[in-house]
Amino acid sequence: MVSVVRTSLRLKSNFPSSLLRVAAHFSSSSANRQDAKRGLLERLANGPVIGDGSFVITLEKRGYVEAGAWTPEAVLQYPEAVKQLHREFLRAGSDVMQTFTFYSSDDKLCLSGDNLDKTETINCENLNNVACDLAKEVANEGDALVAGGISPVPGYVEEKGKEFVMSEFNKQMKVFKEKGVDFVLAEFFAHIEETEWAIEAMRQLDIPIACSMRIGPAGDLSGVTPQECAVRMAKAGADVVGINCNYDPFICLDTMKMMKEALEEAGITSCHLMAQPVGWHTHELRDDVRGYTALPEFPFSMEPRLLTRTDASKFAREAFNLGVRYIGGCCGFEPYHIRAIAEELAPERGVFPPGKDKSEGYASLKKSVFKRQWERGSRQYWEDLIPAAGREKVKLLAQLDESE
Ligand SMILES: [Zn+2]
Repeated sequence: MVSVVRTSLRLKSNFPSSLLRVAAHFSSSSANRQDAKRGLLERLANGPVIGDGSFVITLEKRGYVEAGAWTPEAVLQYPEAVKQLHREFLRAGSDVMQTFTFYSSDDKLCLSGDNLDKTETINCENLNNVACDLAKEVANEGDALVAGGISPVPGYVEEKGKEFVMSEFNKQMKVFKEKGVDFVLAEFFAHIEETEWAIEAMRQLDIPIACSMRIGPAGDLSGVTPQECAVRMAKAGADVVGINCNYDPFICLDTMKMMKEALEEAGITSCHLMAQPVGWHTHELRDDVRGYTALPEFPFSMEPRLLTRTDASKFAREAFNLGVRYIGGCCGFEPYHIRAIAEELAPERGVFPPGKDKSEGYASLKKSVFKRQWERGSRQYWEDLIPAAGREKVKLLAQLDESE
């Protein structure tokens, strides 16, 4: 409490009056926030909820995930690395610690070359158990919720049938029930039928259900439009519907607009909207159902496409204005991008990110000993800037091939 008050006071010299009101609100309401953890739906009804960002891609860059397999064995092999990333998102302002259980079904783990001889210990049950513990430990260091995450299982596209796919989902549901996660989140689904099965599995838990597909304006891999996907997710029982991964924030928001209009036309008003796009610019993929992994730069040369934090702020504002209330990121979204979102929406949320003591906004550049940085101490400077790549040779857009 003492450090919160000190932070609030320090902000007075650098932030506009609207944010000072936020600081005052934060100091006075901290005690209440400690008393009871509000649930997802209650939070969404009261304002934006900030998701977390990139795990599998970021942990690959840090040396804890194998490229190609993109599976989460690090939960068991390097738990401290996973916990550290959770902590960075918490400090950046995430309200949700999503279990690092992407691609953690037994049939996916078995496909990972790294795991072929380790299934005795590295399996769905063990991995999900520990992933829940790691997420919960860090969530309890702040005011965050724990989301049990599920993703597509290879058995669906291998046409092993609904019974097999449901049995893979159910192994995760069993763990999430035992661990008492706050809500469940299905993400990265590419076929609406598998998405509906995932929602059916999640309904057993009787806790809020969030669900997002990795689709753009062209729809899912079965040719179903975003409008139909949104309505079917809602009718299947999802409380929060939307999009994650595959496309940049601005393509994602165009697709979210299509989803929102379809939900309204269908008379569905009870669903909240969520958007967690990738942290790179993917302009040339607007009509390409393959998403960002079709880019020739994926996965080892994506950096020139990286969002700036000004891009992240713009995304947060446009998402909020559209009516999206669960706002976060997916692959490529680093903790500092999430911090930019949390700071942008601080007036609406009534709270700054915990790491605010080291982030006083653009104005902190005026503390520099170099005069040339002083003029950059305003939001306008960064909004007007068109960043350079700093390379002699640079392409504006990639040539895409047609391979799957
Ligand atoms: Zn992703």
